[in-house]
Amino acid sequence: MKERVERILKEQYQKGCGECSAEEVYTALLQAVKEEMAARKLTEGKKKLYYISAEFLIGKLLAGNLINLGAYEEIDTYLKEHGFSMAQMEELEPEPSLGNGGLGRLAACFLDSIATLGLPGDGVGLNYHFGLFRQRFENHKQMEEPNPWIEDQSWLTKTDVSYEVSFGGGITVKSRMYDIDVAGYEAGRNKLHLFDLETVDEGIVEEGIDFDKEDVKRNLTLFLYPDDSDDAGRMLRIYQQYFMVSNGAQLILDEIRQKGGKLTELPEYAVIQINDTHPTMVIPELIRLLMQEGIEQDEAIRLVSQTCAYTNHTILAEALETWPLKYLEKVVPQLVPIIKVLDERVRATTKDRKTVIIDRKKQVHMAHICIHYGFSTNGVAALHTEILKESELKAFYKLYPERFQNKTNGITFRRWLLYSNQELTALIERLIGDGFKRDADELKKLAEFAGDEQVLEELLAIKQKKKQDLADYLQTKGIVVNPASIFDIQIKRLHEYKRQQMNALYLIYKYLEIKKGRKPSTPLTMLFGAKAAPAYIIAKDIIHLILCLQELCEKDPEVSPYLKVVMVENYNVSLAEKLIPACDISEQISLASKEASGTGNMKFMLNGAVTLGTMDGANVEIFDLVGRENMYLFGESSDTVIEHYKREDYHPKKVLAEDIRLQKLVDFIVGPELMAIGDEENLTRLYNEIVGKDWFMALLDLKDYIITKEWALEDYEDRKEWAKKMLINISQAGYFSSDRTIAEYNRDIWKLSEKM
Ligand SMILES: *Cc1c(COP(=O)(O)O)cnc(C)c1O
Repeated sequence: MKERVERILKEQYQKGCGECSAEEVYTALLQAVKEEMAARKLTEGKKKLYYISAEFLIGKLLAGNLINLGAYEEIDTYLKEHGFSMAQMEELEPEPSLGNGGLGRLAACFLDSIATLGLPGDGVGLNYHFGLFRQRFENHKQMEEPNPWIEDQSWLTKTDVSYEVSFGGGITVKSRMYDIDVAGYEAGRNKLHLFDLETVDEGIVEEGIDFDKEDVKRNLTLFLYPDDSDDAGRMLRIYQQYFMVSNGAQLILDEIRQKGGKLTELPEYAVIQINDTHPTMVIPELIRLLMQEGIEQDEAIRLVSQTCAYTNHTILAEALETWPLKYLEKVVPQLVPIIKVLDERVRATTKDRKTVIIDRKKQVHMAHICIHYGFSTNGVAALHTEILKESELKAFYKLYPERFQNKTNGITFRRWLLYSNQELTALIERLIGDGFKRDADELKKLAEFAGDEQVLEELLAIKQKKKQDLADYLQTKGIVVNPASIFDIQIKRLHEYKRQQMNALYLIYKYLEIKKGRKPSTPLTMLFGAKAAPAYIIAKDIIHLILCLQELCEKDPEVSPYLKVVMVENYNVSLAEKLIPACDISEQISLASKEASGTGNMKFMLNGAVTLGTMDGANVEIFDLVGRENMYLFGESSDTVIEHYKREDYHPKKVLAEDIRLQKLVDFIVGPELMAIGDEENLTRLYNEIVGKDWFMALLDLKDYIITKEWALEDYEDRKEWAKKMLINISQAGYFSSDRTIAEYNRDIWKLSEKM
């Protein structure tokens, strides 16, 4: 690899590495890695997987690619020899924000594992020029800005693949496909195909992230999830979705033809994994394209149904997409007759009106299309899949019990251990050999060191080093944290169901305790990272509250030595890579039944953080693996919560009336201390929401949460016992490797032949 870099530097700048600027070295490295990847054989096979997703939260790619190419150490040394560092190169790489959270990060981890396992399969998505948005704080509030990431030299390779896509109103556009190579660990290469439109005009973005939502030819691939609080925004999402799936469908049929296959053999050549409902229209679009090629409607529906599989990621009602039929008539009129046929067929086979595709209000239920016209529906953690079968999708489960299955999420250990925690990786390798890098189950061997004092000491020393690294990094951003304090971290999208507001109420509790003179033995640092959807008012109010609390603690000399709050700006993958290895307590506190799986919880566990959480999503499986001694559980069960919703008998006012201490914490939100710092409108609105509605029941679990968190903080004082918990967590994390998840998808759904 370093010879490649030298050669490129010579060719382009006529200089050696020592004489080049960091930017020049970065550009050469990027090119060298791209060349090296291109030299690898593409993984191919008769049958191929197409993983279609609106999001691929890939993060920065340089370091991960170097690791998978086996060249990380070589380049690390080479850079150091010439006065540069990997960290410096990483700072130069822009991070694309082609995803919003877990679902997009999952797609990225999956690509890594698909390539590593040698499975023929590519990702299909969109090349958003500005991605989600870049978050900035101003006056304790979130501001949104575009996040441009595409530079002259980037991971994208322009291909000569281009398709026509037609919308209603006589609009026809021509697409362009860009590829990003995905290198497997040690071997294998697959592709991420990102479709774009050459007429898109970055210049139409004005203030913040505002732009003309109706100018489709110029705005189509500017942003992921454009604001959907008005009709134009909602319509734009349909334009984007159709653009994505029409390109994907045309690509799939082209590749079958290139292999000499017949379109009537579709299921033998392709399997399509529909990642959440955004790509649903691939089903009617493929049917339409097959019929255009002369295949009868019945046959086309049968072929497509045997090809498509659907992953459900949420049970939150607002996230299960429905589109007004009249929007579809405007944007994709060519699909409407097909969707109507699909609906009629459902109506002819079942009397259960809960499963119709077009309901009485003329709303089209996208998930229903996927379940009826796909051969597989999966949830993403054991509890989530059970809830789908027993409540949320019960009517469908009765119709098709054989189609439902669970595939518990996973994460790629290459990024979340080998790269982001090289010190821990080295220790593990010394203790149990390097087999865990390919077979994550081997981590179990670590458990035998649970009584080995020296190993436990080393583990603590590594955690301390990672905390120091994070403190040093934050210092460069002007933030000072005490590396001797306990690092308690909640990083994830901002949503009421994830209950950052409950954590903020704990913070108020702790602040008041310290003011009363009850000082903690070890200081506490509470770190938050979260973006709020631009139109989600209450989520932004919660950010406001946390930022106000941050200032309150900072400015109070009685409190600041013991309690520090840091909300990092613009939470993204590279920040996650720095925060997670430094974490002592992992906050996974969603309202039971609401978090489908979570993957942050897995990353933390793998890095030796101890989970403080509810029995929700994959926390349940973490608990099954590590047991009561090694995790802090609190809160009502998912059954109880589901009952509350069914009976509509949860009232925050009742909880507050029963416990004056909780009332005091909530009142603090609109008390004089915070009002002096923050904005009355935001704080009052949030207060009213919590006291009057509290839809995600933060107050229901607050008391138990405070007690359990205090208990965890106390336990931390016995460092040896704590280190044992860390070790057990790491040793049990192997189950959450995305290699295991992907092997299961392949065994039960895709059935691709593995060619290593
Ligand atoms: C893993 C990850 C997520 C998902 O976190 P959850 O806690 O599972 O919601 C979101 N964003 C980024 C950047 C991640 O790396």
